[in-house]
Formats: sequence, structure tokens, C-alpha cells
Amino acid sequence: MASEPTHSDGEESATIEPSDEESALQTARRELHHAAERLDIDPAIVEQLNHPASVHEVTVPIERDDGTVEVYTGYRAHHDSVKGPFKGGLRYHPEVTRDECVGLSMWMTWKCAVMDLPFGGAKGGVAVDPKSLSRAEKERLTRRFTQEIRSVIGPTKDIPAPDMGTDPQTMAWVMDAYSMQEDETIPGVVTGKPPVVGGSEGREQAPGRSVAIVTREAIEYYGRDIEETDVAVQGYGSVGANAARLLDRWGANIVAVSDVTGGIYDPDGIDTGSVPSHDEEPEAVLEQDAPLAVTNDELLELDVDVLIPAAIGNVLTEVNAGDVQADLIVEGANGPTTSTAQELLAERGVTVIPDILANAGGVTVSYFEWLQDINRQSWSLERVHEELETEMLSAWDAVRAEKENGASTWRDAAYAVALSRIAEAHDARGLWP
Ligand code: GLU
Repeated sequence: MASEPTHSDGEESATIEPSDEESALQTARRELHHAAERLDIDPAIVEQLNHPASVHEVTVPIERDDGTVEVYTGYRAHHDSVKGPFKGGLRYHPEVTRDECVGLSMWMTWKCAVMDLPFGGAKGGVAVDPKSLSRAEKERLTRRFTQEIRSVIGPTKDIPAPDMGTDPQTMAWVMDAYSMQEDETIPGVVTGKPPVVGGSEGREQAPGRSVAIVTREAIEYYGRDIEETDVAVQGYGSVGANAARLLDRWGANIVAVSDVTGGIYDPDGIDTGSVPSHDEEPEAVLEQDAPLAVTNDELLELDVDVLIPAAIGNVLTEVNAGDVQADLIVEGANGPTTSTAQELLAERGVTVIPDILANAGGVTVSYFEWLQDINRQSWSLERVHEELETEMLSAWDAVRAEKENGASTWRDAAYAVALSRIAEAHDARGLWP
């Protein structure tokens, strides 16, 4: 099993240990081939997309606070850039591997394509437990890692962003390290920064906001009343807490939320504003007053209408997929549903809205941030919310059209939208030389 779960300071907060029946790369490859089979795509393009464009593996030595030197391994995987510069998060997690970065970079290609953003997919990180580092050590690690990957990132090449174990402060250090070496301030090299150094208003809340928007649309699509909808949310980091609070505000009944320590359950509804998110006070969910406490495993099997896994990957597995009682699952985390679980849930008629659509608000507001940075502009929070709403609804409509056009699952529909856009772009550009 995985090592002790770490919670992130960034976009996903881990709550339970994943069951690792399939690696992210295996899943990403299987999903690519599954999607390509249903679409008429040139096999040569599929074969190209089955591999990363390149993977950079670097050694990152840092001086610990006690004067000793520790050596870590870091990666930056570039998948496909047919639509524009590579884009994707940087994670600090003990289980970061080359293959995980490649698999996650493939998902970023599809995520950007579903949103029709002019970016390709990347992912990277350092194999380290960020909880084992002091703030100063984390800063040294970030600066040295940035230096090691400096030649392959840049505002027109590859633009990193926060992911598990990294946060806006980490991105500010990346921006500073890169800028100092390039002799000019270059905010567009990285997104998810604090607004004071060129970050966008609304970026931190964006993945949770898009999860809430997509959940609201799916509830309406299936003819439900949001006021009559019970929702359980696993993970109370930036994705889970923001999604829960928005849905609560829009009338849904949030009956269960959890963090790394476990969850609380109140069939009458939880006041989500009074439960501190991970950023506000880490690991405080269980300290809140509620009639019942649940484990993270139990939360997934509660009798609710909507389940939002917004923590880590591989939490819905062949072991528990048969016991999920929700009719609708909206994936807040990246890859929370294993392949076998996807099949079991589809057989049981449980609707799953995939991560590459649901949590794509993060990379979408990253795109807004990048636009603001390269144009030296600053948008209001209101404008970011409006533009995000427009982009999410347009992606939702494109995916819904594929679903109504015969795609058997929402994941198939999202892949059809993404892959056909990427394949068309490859076809138009052709092969060089
Ligand atoms: N790490 C985020 C994701 O998985 C955001 C990536 C970005 O903004 O570039 O979607």
C-alpha cells in the first residue's frame, strides 16, 4: 500500500490511501486506445499520443536545515504540444514517478483540449514528502528544481502550476527563481501564483468552482432539483471545500465532508462555511459538531444522490464500486475512479462526470492568468467568474452533444471531444520534417 497519506497545500488534499491496481500511465494509455477505437483517428497519430514528447529527469540536491545534504529526484513530462505550450501542475509527493508524470501529462492534454485551450499537456514534480520539509527547505528545493528544469519551461514553452503538495507560494518561488536567472521578471512562466505577483483572482478556487458548475449542470440535465439533492464530498482542500460551499450556496444539501482524518455526516445538512478548509485550518473536519463521524471509506458508500471524490486518485475501486449508492459521481480529484470501478459503475447505471471536464476550471483560470501576465493586465474576480462560467458551459455543451450522439459514458464523450480536436490539429499541421 501507499505510504502515509499526505495532504496537499495545493489543488488536491489526500484523504485516504489509494489502492494501486493500475498506474496513471496504464490508465491513460488504456483510455486513449479505448477512445481512439470509437473515433476514426489515424493510427499513426494515436501511436504518437501513446508516448510523451519528452521526459526530463533531474537530480535535486538541497541543504537541509541541519547542514546535511539530501538528494531528490524530479521530473517534468511533456506529452503533446500540437495546440500550444505544455501546461500542467507540479506535485511534491513521495510517490511521484516518471510514469505517473507521463500519465498525468496525457490527462492534461485531454483536459486542455476539452476546454479548447491553446495548451498541450505536461506534469512534473519531485518525489518528496513535503510534510518532511521546513518552509526554508521547501523554498530551496523549489528554487533548485526550477533551475534544473529551467531550459524546458518558459511562458511560450511550458507553464507549470500548483498540484498535490504545492501551492501559490511554491509558484511564487518558481517565478522568482526563473526570473532571476533570465534577468527579467517573467510572471507568465508559471500560473497559480499569489495575485500580488501576477496570479489571477479566483485561480485557487477555480477547480472547485468548475466541479460545482458541472455538478449543477448534471443535476439539471438529469431532471433533479438541486434543493432536493444530497451531496457527499471527500476531501476538504481547495477543490472539495470550494465545490461544497458553492453547491451549498446554490441550494444543495451537503450531508458529508471529510479530510485526511475522516469525515462528518449530517443528513440534515452541514454548514459548509463553518467547517474550515484545509487551507484555513488543516485536518479540522472531525473537530466540527455533527451527529455522526464516518471514515473516508464509509463516506464513499453513503446513501446520497451525488458523490464528489475530491482528494486523491484511485479511491473508487473494484472493492467499493458495487457499494456506492450515489447515482451521480463528479470527479474532483484527478483519476479517482479505477478502470475496473468505471466498468462496474457503468454496469450499475451510475453516472460519472470525468475529471478532465469537472476539475478543468483550474487550468482554465491558469489560462486566464497567463493571458493577464503576458498582456500585463489584471482581471476582476467578477470577470474571472463570468469567463469561467462561459468556458465551462461551452465545454459542458460540447461533451453533452457527444453523449447525446451515442457515447456510452460521459468519460467517452469527453475523450471524443478532446481526442478529435487533438487529432484534427495533428492532421492539419502534419509531420515535421
Ligand atoms: N494541477 C492542475 C490540474 O491538474 C492545474 C494545472 C494548470 O493549471 O496548469 O488540472
